Amino acid sequence: KSFADLGLSDELLQAVKKVGYTSPSPIQEKVIPFVLDRKDVLASAQTGTGKTAGFTLPMLQLLTQDVKQRSKIRRRSLRCLILTPTRELAAQVFENVKEYSEFLDIRSAVIFGGVNQNPQIRTLKNGVDVLVATPGRLLDLEGQKALSLADVEILVLDEADRMLDMGFLHDIKRVIKLVPTKRQNLLFSATFSKEIKALAGKILSNHVTVEA
Ligand code: AMP
Repeated sequence: KSFADLGLSDELLQAVKKVGYTSPSPIQEKVIPFVLDRKDVLASAQTGTGKTAGFTLPMLQLLTQDVKQRSKIRRRSLRCLILTPTRELAAQVFENVKEYSEFLDIRSAVIFGGVNQNPQIRTLKNGVDVLVATPGRLLDLEGQKALSLADVEILVLDEADRMLDMGFLHDIKRVIKLVPTKRQNLLFSATFSKEIKALAGKILSNHVTVEA
C-alpha cells in the first residue's frame, strides 16, 4: 500500500515525499485509516516503528479537513493535544509535526518543564492548533490561564506506559477533566500492561486495538 491508498490529502503526501518516506510502515498502514475514520485507537508500538507519523499525519488531515468544511476564516484554538513523558520526546514529536504540516495552515507548539516558561506563554498567546506537551508544564500553564483545553478534539497519549512509569497518572487524570468529554483519543504504548488497559478503559470509548 502507498500513503495515497491510505487516504491522505495532497498536502500531506507532498510533506511525506519531502521527508523521503516511500511507503507506510506496518503500524502506519494499520493506524492511519482508523484515525481518519475518527475512531479511538489503542496501539502498541515501540519507538522506531514510525508511530509518530502514524498518529500525526491523519490527525493533521482531520484538523484541516474540518476547516475546509467550515470556512476559510477561523479563530485558532488548541484542537489537538499530544502528551509525551519527556521533553526529549516532546521536542522530537514537535519536529515531526512541523515537518508534516509544512504545506498546511496549521500552527503548532511544544511546551515542557525545566526551561523558562515565558517564551512558551508568548507562543501560546499567538494561538496554536496543535500542542505537544509534557504533563507537568501543561497543567502549570493551564492553571495560569496561558492555555485552554476546552476546544481539544483529539487527545494523543504517546508512550503512555512510560508516562505511568514516571508517575504521571494523576496528571493525566487532571488533563482528562479539562478536555471536552466528546473527543477522539489515541493511546500509544510499547506494552499493554494491566495499568495501560485500565487507563484505556477510563479514557477511550469504543476503541479499536492495533498491534504493530
Ligand atoms: P518513530 O517510531 O515515530 O520514532 O519514527 C522512527 C523513525 O522512522 C523516524 O526517524 C521517522 O522519520 C522514520 N519514519 C517514519 N515513518 C517512516 C516511513 N514510512 N518510511 C521511512 N521512515 C519513516
